[in-house]
Amino acid sequence: DRTASASGSTSTDSDRTPVRVDSQDSQVSDSDTITDGHRWPRQNSLSMREWDIPYDELKIGEPIGMGRFGTVHRGYWHGDVAIKLIEMDDLDDEKTLDHFRNEVSTFRKTRHENLVLFMGACMKPPKLAVVTSLSKGMTLYTHIHLRKDKFNMNRTTMVAQQISQGMGYLHAKGIVHKDLKSKNIFLENGKVVITDFGLFSVTKLCGGNKKSEALGIPPGWLCYLSPEIMRSLKAHQSYDDELPFSNASDVYAFGTVWYELLCGEWPFKGQPPEAIIWQVGKGMKQPLANLQASRDVKDILMLCWSYRPGDRPDFIRLLNILDKLPKKRLARSPSHPIHLSRSAES
Ligand code: ADP
Ligand code: MG
Repeated sequence: DRTASASGSTSTDSDRTPVRVDSQDSQVSDSDTITDGHRWPRQNSLSMREWDIPYDELKIGEPIGMGRFGTVHRGYWHGDVAIKLIEMDDLDDEKTLDHFRNEVSTFRKTRHENLVLFMGACMKPPKLAVVTSLSKGMTLYTHIHLRKDKFNMNRTTMVAQQISQGMGYLHAKGIVHKDLKSKNIFLENGKVVITDFGLFSVTKLCGGNKKSEALGIPPGWLCYLSPEIMRSLKAHQSYDDELPFSNASDVYAFGTVWYELLCGEWPFKGQPPEAIIWQVGKGMKQPLANLQASRDVKDILMLCWSYRPGDRPDFIRLLNILDKLPKKRLARSPSHPIHLSRSAES
């Protein structure tokens, strides 16, 4: 007992229950809150360190692509990774940095098969980066819009179910994706992997919209925006805080992905942004007359695209609906052994 109290500050309590440390700020000693002269917000200090990646440890490879975040690079950190290098306009701004830290910390809470694996982040300005596992597959966007791959109904349903599972998990964790779109959904050997959840406001803070179109709207983004968001868009949109993103607006975006899977194109194809904003804001929807699909399949679109957020289903309900869609069975003779017909399908 004496030795325990002598060692004093190395609290035996926290040794026995290390899990508590994360949430119990008071257990953190002062030295923990100072990293290289920078004072982290006290309540985050310990949790911060566990996924902080020193910038020097990252091997940054060739760029994969440009997004609103800045550039995504292939990289190496204990294996292949994707590195999002964040370009911030005003790195001295503590508020901006805090915002970045908060947004990134939502990543940390996620553990789900259908969500990209968050590995860590570099949080020391001016080197800000988010490190995730590298997706080896292609995005739904590439499949649908570039390669013009056709998804049959069974595959469409399977993809939608996995998206709904990942999204249902996010919402259960209190995370709104805010940027669900076919470009942020990877398909790896039939498995769906969703990326970029909760990072949307960071992109805004980075001033990443400079190069884009009128109204500061990146191309290919509009058709995912729900009526209530359309109606809140302003000519000089700066922070997404002003936009009413919600679980229901994620569901609206899911509706658009469902449409892309079914039709191979975006709704309101070829129409100018002003026309789309006006129509959606007024409650008009992409007509479905030319869509060859059953009533149930179209009903999903209509539900997700409901004008009022409260009328849209949540992902749990969507999973229920998707599960009830009739599955087309591949014809096989009754005597045909199941394992053989399986291998014939693949
Ligand atoms: P967007 O999602 O609008 O395409 P991003 O900045 O998110 O913009 O991505 C830029 C590019 O990097 C895209 O081509 C995207 O497919 C690719 N990319 C993003 N994250 C990953 C990842 N984890 N693995 C592989 N490629 C990725
Ligand atoms: Mg992305």
